[in-house]
Amino acid sequence: MKIHEYQGRELLSTYGISVPQGKMITAAADAASAYREASGGIAGGLVVVKAQVHAGGRGKAGFVKLVRSAEEATAAATFMLSNRMKSPQTPAEGLQVTRLLIANGVDIADRAGGGKEEFYLAITLDRATRRNVLIASREGGVEIEQIAHDRPEAIVKERLHPTAGLFPSAARKVAFNLGFKGKQIGQAADIMMKLAKLYVEKDCSLAEINPLVITPKSEKFPDGQVIAIDAKFNFDDNGLFRHPELTSMADNTEENPAELRAQQFGLSYVALDGNIGCLVNGVGLAMATMDIIKLHGGEPANFLDVGGSATEEAVTEAFGIILSDPKCKGVMVNIFGGIMRCDVIAQGIVNAASKFKNSDNSIGFKVPLVVRLEGTNVQAGRKLLEEAKSKIPTMQAATDLSDAAKKVCSAVGV
Ligand code: GDP
Ligand code: MN
Repeated sequence: MKIHEYQGRELLSTYGISVPQGKMITAAADAASAYREASGGIAGGLVVVKAQVHAGGRGKAGFVKLVRSAEEATAAATFMLSNRMKSPQTPAEGLQVTRLLIANGVDIADRAGGGKEEFYLAITLDRATRRNVLIASREGGVEIEQIAHDRPEAIVKERLHPTAGLFPSAARKVAFNLGFKGKQIGQAADIMMKLAKLYVEKDCSLAEINPLVITPKSEKFPDGQVIAIDAKFNFDDNGLFRHPELTSMADNTEENPAELRAQQFGLSYVALDGNIGCLVNGVGLAMATMDIIKLHGGEPANFLDVGGSATEEAVTEAFGIILSDPKCKGVMVNIFGGIMRCDVIAQGIVNAASKFKNSDNSIGFKVPLVVRLEGTNVQAGRKLLEEAKSKIPTMQAATDLSDAAKKVCSAVGV
């Protein structure tokens, strides 16, 4: 699960990491008052308007704008709420923006030798070493992906201890190596420690601050203040049951609607790019099914795993989800019934044939359907399908897995 930046900033703040004051709005009409609040009432004060979407690359896409008046804030908000945001991290058609963060704008100190004092800081899981790892770079900001690709030596990594987490000495070492100076070192190390604590306690799979910046020197902060001006979090879905405070932050409008619909019925649905829908039970069988489809020249449109104990309603719904995908030109059902009974699957097919609309609004299976059933209650399942044959004219039975793959591939024209 992901959350928006404005929620991520609140989370950072709960852990004692400094973030600028801000407010989330959903209408351009609220931008002017949000500007006045974020600027602390200072005329011409620097404020940032930021699109809140579950994708990065906003800065380069023009969806992070610095403004200095209520009028500029309103114009930026109007633009962002009425144009789709496109970046390398969004689908080609872009994302619609419905929420904006209007926050106090931070002055970023100039770096000796050019550029601004922007750093990258993240904690994630390194699968290769099976440790959580702190990843940091002196060259944070909007070019970090390019830098990681072109100059991996510009990225610093520090492994966390499995139980003790990030050691204070390790955090200070990283801060020093990144080039923080004087009082900045303590501030940066403190942020790293707090981020590491948050990462573990909230079951994150990614906790990222990009950029972490240094403000110009001031009376209060003689070496400048180290402050987070972006926040990105991914959480491990398997840990969410422990965190009602996080699940309440979910924004379902940002998720794939078919995946959400599947989730509500206890099904796992993964959308892919091909044109053959796959209904299977179990992830292992899903992998094997996709492999064999590819072996015969086809491309899966998705896989939908009904798991071991889906009800008839859930199975029926599963076909509804597959049929609603306009890319899907054929469906392969591959069930090896263990706990899942073949007759429940068959009944789901029969129900779906009279219940669901295709993407062109016709009822029933307009696309070819190839069914391979084996295992528990297979005779009862086959009988149900045999009896319903006239209702499902596009259905073919398959004798085994490769027969099923060949039939569905030829049915979609490969
Ligand atoms: P992202 O591109 O989606 O990661 O959005 P960010 O929140 O990281 O913003 C992109 C860039 O905009 C940052 O790297 C900064 O250079 C700039 N920026 C964002 N907020 C501020 C701010 O408050 N003050 C200043 N001076 N620059 C900002
Ligand atoms: Mn960023």
